[in-house]
Amino acid sequence: MGATAGGGESEFEVVEYCGRLSCRKPIVQTAGRGRRREFCSETCRRGADREYKRTKALVESSERNLRSFRYEVAAYGRRTELEDGRRTPEDEERLHREALAAISRAQAVVEFSDDPDDRYLAELHRLVQAVEPLVVPTAARATA
Ligand SMILES: [Zn+2]
Repeated sequence: MGATAGGGESEFEVVEYCGRLSCRKPIVQTAGRGRRREFCSETCRRGADREYKRTKALVESSERNLRSFRYEVAAYGRRTELEDGRRTPEDEERLHREALAAISRAQAVVEFSDDPDDRYLAELHRLVQAVEPLVVPTAARATA
């Protein structure tokens, strides 16, 4: 099986793809002889080098940004959490109020939308049903 026309056993053609991600043109290589070609052209070899350097710089600057954002989050976090990471009663109350408001808005969206085939809406509906018992006090639900 796998017999290819021309050449001996040690010379057969394989197809690989240009190493430049934006190109990926097939390159026919003759296996077992000479150096493997990584790119389809000189243009792609240079282009890939440029793109690699640019992307590497982007990764580095993104990591720097991520670190500084994490510091920011940590700085804000100190204000809303106790030393050991627990929330203060005021924070609990505020979070609960925000959750209640968000659930009410979501319920309104579910109620006033009338597209029965909307998958996002159905998912939102499930989310509201699942979260509502956690957020809305039992007494409020009983009288609602
Ligand atoms: Zn190429």
